[in-house]
Amino acid sequence: MDMVHEREGMHYEGYCIRPPSEADSILLQVTVGCSHNKCTFCGSYRDKRFRIKDDKVILSDILFAAKYMQDQDRVFLMDGDALIIPQKKLVWILAMIQEHLLRVKRVGAYANVKGIKMKSLAELTQLREMNLGILFYGVETGDDEIRSAIQKGSPAQTCIEMGHRVKEAGITLSATVLLGIGGRENSLRHARATGELLSAMDPDFVGALTVMFVPGTPLYEAHRQGKFELPDEAGLLRELREMITCTNLTRGYFFSNHASNYLPIKAKLPSGKQKALDLIDAALRGEVGLKPEWMRAL
Ligand code: SF4
Repeated sequence: MDMVHEREGMHYEGYCIRPPSEADSILLQVTVGCSHNKCTFCGSYRDKRFRIKDDKVILSDILFAAKYMQDQDRVFLMDGDALIIPQKKLVWILAMIQEHLLRVKRVGAYANVKGIKMKSLAELTQLREMNLGILFYGVETGDDEIRSAIQKGSPAQTCIEMGHRVKEAGITLSATVLLGIGGRENSLRHARATGELLSAMDPDFVGALTVMFVPGTPLYEAHRQGKFELPDEAGLLRELREMITCTNLTRGYFFSNHASNYLPIKAKLPSGKQKALDLIDAALRGEVGLKPEWMRAL
């Protein structure tokens, strides 16, 4: 694309997603799709062939945002894994944001093991110094057998080490885990292993989502063929309970308030753990209403 102008507006391609907490951020699409794109449950970028976007297009979007999105003080880099971008180009993108979006104080992005591994601690620190302030890290589960079944592409130990690298660089770490991803049989095993992974990684935030079956994904097919079953509502609550029980953070928040979940939880750990467990127990006794199925969405 040679002729690009900011008058054209933002150059979004395909279906774009961002974490709920980035709803008010300037959404800047710097890659299209996800370079891994293999996780069996994930339908986010199935229709997209991965590529890093052209400098001219990215700059045009930054200039458009500078003119029309002056009140926003955060940027979220889409799509799946902005850290895959070579360091020199990513530094340039952050420098352009600093130069043109003067109010922006924090840049965020999704991250996976592959992308973090591409960056040394020194490189991550350099990105931190240029306002990369938060990474939303797809952890899903701490159980190695399940990680390999869902084609996560890395063992739990590497996932923990990459989380440490992010934290060491001073970047806020928000880990996403997936309720139900172990299926009915491995539900509690998944919960325990994930709690242990989270305790070892010690992220600043944990966001628990519930598996949704997305047409076109291998997990959807497995479910359709009766090879993968989700725990029922009570089973998912027991899984969440076990996960929170096994999660020991020095200072962090555990959220399960995503639209895909049945019971919204917002717990400050360690102090709010018992309160969260009590709420789940009340829900299991039927004393707290759960979100009806039709209201659950991604
Ligand atoms: S790494 Fe993330 S975005 Fe990529 S396929 Fe897996 S879950 Fe989806």
